[in-house]
Amino acid sequence: MSAKLLKGTEIREEILAEIKRDVEAIKAKHGVVPGLVTILVGSNPASLSYVSLKIKTAHSVGFKEIQDDQPADISEEALLGLLEKYRRDDTIHGILVQLPLPPHINEKNVLNAIDPDKDVDGFHPVNVGRLLIGGSEVRFPPCTPAGILEMIRRSGVPTSGAEVVVVGRSNIVGKPVANMLMQKGPGANATVTVVHTGTKNLASHCRRADILIVAAGVPGLVKPEWIKPGACVIDVGVNRVGEKISPATGRPVAILRGDVDFEAASKIAGFITPVPGGVGPMTIAMLMKNTLNALKFQLQIS
Ligand code: NAP
Repeated sequence: MSAKLLKGTEIREEILAEIKRDVEAIKAKHGVVPGLVTILVGSNPASLSYVSLKIKTAHSVGFKEIQDDQPADISEEALLGLLEKYRRDDTIHGILVQLPLPPHINEKNVLNAIDPDKDVDGFHPVNVGRLLIGGSEVRFPPCTPAGILEMIRRSGVPTSGAEVVVVGRSNIVGKPVANMLMQKGPGANATVTVVHTGTKNLASHCRRADILIVAAGVPGLVKPEWIKPGACVIDVGVNRVGEKISPATGRPVAILRGDVDFEAASKIAGFITPVPGGVGPMTIAMLMKNTLNALKFQLQIS
């Protein structure tokens, strides 16, 4: 069997085009656009490149976007003051603080100070609780898990009654994606098992999965013989395994591998995500969707 590739790069473009259309319609009818602020503390090169991509994407779909760069020595108090300023700003619907923060700042204090109604990353405890309750309580599903569900939905793979196995139980991927898929309702209603380093016989669990979601951060962890023929395999892992020279720029670039042995797995699975170009690009699209939804909540439209 040769698996169908679930290309996040293509699905992201579809979603961004839908968001752009929605933004134009809201602007025409209500005279407002979604506003997204990204706060970057210091100048970590990786963070800088993530933030510029978010800002560029926000601009491309017609959002008001602010990149608020702060010096690495900003005090925690000043940063909390900034969050309060954006909480009160009605033209800002989404607030993001790019992590990691410098060691003198308590990340938890900062993330917990983001207005839960503007917490488009969905990491505030209030939004984690809303996600767990499910249904109409959900405000901002975290972006990577939301991207995974969207890929599954758009691929046409049924989730209701499916055996889903999630490898990994992190707060940003494993736990929320498991929670979302076990909720009652369309695009979910699955029977979910979460496995981790304490699990006995990982392989036997994975072999049962109609949908296998792997977010461990261990290159090649999932072997082809762990995959049920025809399964949908979502590889969230992004692991740097070396460097190569880019033919386009002549500069060294990272060689990235997922948590699944892609070549062999794609001969057995029915659907599979590549790394890179699979789940990764979906995250930013879902961030834009959360920001658009934040404005819709403010306007009380759907
Ligand atoms: P994390 O916080 O390090 O969590 C990894 C989870 O995998 C833990 O629950 C750990 O179990 C489990 N695990 C690790 N090794 C295992 C093994 N050998 N067998 C079974 N379980 C194992 O990682 P994360 O933040 O969820 O990220 C996971 C991967 O996804 C990383 O490669 C990351 O770069 C990638 N990622 C990609 C995106 C994106 O594409 N947008 C977003 C987020 C993350 P324990 O709990 O028992 O330690």
